[in-house]
Amino acid sequence: MTASILIVEDELAQAQILQYNLEAANFAVSHAINGEEGLAKAQALLPDLILLDWMLPDMPGTDVCAKIRTMPVTKDIPVIMLTARGSEDDKVRGLNIGADDYVVKPYSIRTLIARIKANLRKAGLGQTDLEFGDITMNTLTYRVQRDGVSIKLGPTEFRLLKTFLAHPKKVWSRMQLLDHVWGTDVYVDDRTVDVHIGRLRRAININNKPDIIRTVRGAGYALDTEK
Ligand code: CA
Repeated sequence: MTASILIVEDELAQAQILQYNLEAANFAVSHAINGEEGLAKAQALLPDLILLDWMLPDMPGTDVCAKIRTMPVTKDIPVIMLTARGSEDDKVRGLNIGADDYVVKPYSIRTLIARIKANLRKAGLGQTDLEFGDITMNTLTYRVQRDGVSIKLGPTEFRLLKTFLAHPKKVWSRMQLLDHVWGTDVYVDDRTVDVHIGRLRRAININNKPDIIRTVRGAGYALDTEK
């Protein structure tokens, strides 16, 4: 499953271990060190899921979660609260402010990844069959077809197309694509996105089929046949 995850965690060592393990599990990961940065990155990057530490230096994680739920662009992003506390009261409070799930520290990474996947599935992400128009993708077999004809894609183009298929017609900025497809801590520049978009176009616009990638000047790209 390729999905992008934003970790909001002030303890750097914990965040780094988490990031390492999630990247090993094929997630694209970005990190924010406090609530304010977490809110800014949630809006800018639109991750597929947010792991939110309860105890942050600048504001409680519960406040961050409440704000995520009030902003139109972030309100549907699944949030898993990470906390050292374990009492039932806190659980209820955590879920009342709109968190989707709750994992108590210290957690096993396998348990956390299982919960991440469960929450992504609940949100409709991580489904195995994706389609748009005459394009189909199976994310388990990595098969991509256009109008029944098999398409061969490199790994980056596959992830790009998968990101587009998860949100058809949504316009993605280059920064959002970098985060979703490459992860924020990988050094690649905007032009890299353009190069891979070009490769994806050449691979998928076959047999004189219409171009399915819309270039939106000054904004980015979308999976859309209408120009
Ligand atoms: Ca903390």
